[in-house]
Amino acid sequence: MHELSIVCSIVDLASQAAEGGVVRRVTIEIGKLSGVAPDAIAFCFPEVARGTPVEGAALDIREVDAEARCDVCGAEFPTPDLLSECPCGSRQFKRLRGEELNIKSIEIEEAA
Ligand SMILES: [Zn+2]
Repeated sequence: MHELSIVCSIVDLASQAAEGGVVRRVTIEIGKLSGVAPDAIAFCFPEVARGTPVEGAALDIREVDAEARCDVCGAEFPTPDLLSECPCGSRQFKRLRGEELNIKSIEIEEAA
């Protein structure tokens, strides 16, 4: 499963960032066109985190709306799916966001 490997890398990165402390919260951004299912990420996270410094951490998932800029008229417009086109009718555009998968922040509590 695609999401499982993504969660593994998130937990790996957060574990390394913890440097002996405990991870309290991980915030990630998932573009709506990234093909990643936020539900599946949220489902896998506690399992993958078990036994790591990330165990028990909260996972915040922020979904990022997809937007593009038209090559023809320059308008920026939402692209809720892969078949979207510009209001001017053009299908030539550059995606600005919506395909990303980023770790936005990792909150760590240092070991006492
Ligand atoms: Zn256009």
